[in-house]
Amino acid sequence: MSKPKIGIFGLTGCAGDQLVILNCEDQLLDLVAAVDIRDFLTATSANDTESRLDVAFVEGAVLSKRDEETLKKIRERSDVLVALGTCAVWGGIPALDRGRDRLELLQTVYGNKAEQYDTMPTKALHEVVKVDLNISGCPIEKEQFLSSVADLLNGNPPLLPDYAVCAECKWKENNCLLIEKGEVCCGPLTIAGCKARCPELNVACAGCRGPATDANVKSAVALFQEKGISLTDVAAKFRTFAPVQITDKPE
Ligand code: SF4
Ligand code: SF4
Repeated sequence: MSKPKIGIFGLTGCAGDQLVILNCEDQLLDLVAAVDIRDFLTATSANDTESRLDVAFVEGAVLSKRDEETLKKIRERSDVLVALGTCAVWGGIPALDRGRDRLELLQTVYGNKAEQYDTMPTKALHEVVKVDLNISGCPIEKEQFLSSVADLLNGNPPLLPDYAVCAECKWKENNCLLIEKGEVCCGPLTIAGCKARCPELNVACAGCRGPATDANVKSAVALFQEKGISLTDVAAKFRTFAPVQITDKPE
């Protein structure tokens, strides 16, 4: 039986998620034994850019017509498309200019050459094509990538957390930076999976993994307000990685 064919791609991003895959040193031999990696430009220049893929992993956001065309082509040739990393899932840092006039920003940086750039307002992958699975993170956690590959190969839906970083932080019995120090910690609203790496090091969560679907927004908002933290400050911190609506209005 032939091995499942996979492709690993990068649009506009920093290649950090692809590097996480390349850094799976202890698992790489098992990985290449289990799958046929057909197209992975960051790893090799010998790629098959046309054949049908069972699974495509795509890092980065859509920022140009070239990104958009590349993504649509990947979608057409793939049975399953996985968004890899916060930029692909939410727009991430490339989307920091959401709501601003892009041409004006380009003119500030590139002057009269601004209009020559192939650029468009940032989109996450799901805003352009159908996405079958999101693996968030900035960068992704290698365990989540490997377990997702194993699940997909076995025909199982990958089980990734939908709860907030606070859960992992509590399991580690960390002191709470929000409750004890009144710091703007995005943990209550951020999707878990990082094992609360930052709060464990006494650094407030910056929300780099994007919003948790299962977060108790109402309770988090009440807590921020109780600590005198403005929701504008929370939203401003969050928007580095993902657009989130944080409001004290009743749902
Ligand atoms: S430190 Fe942050 S992540 Fe940890 S429990 Fe407090 S609010 Fe949640
Ligand atoms: S604690 Fe927050 S900022 Fe740190 S890795 Fe986890 S999600 Fe990212």
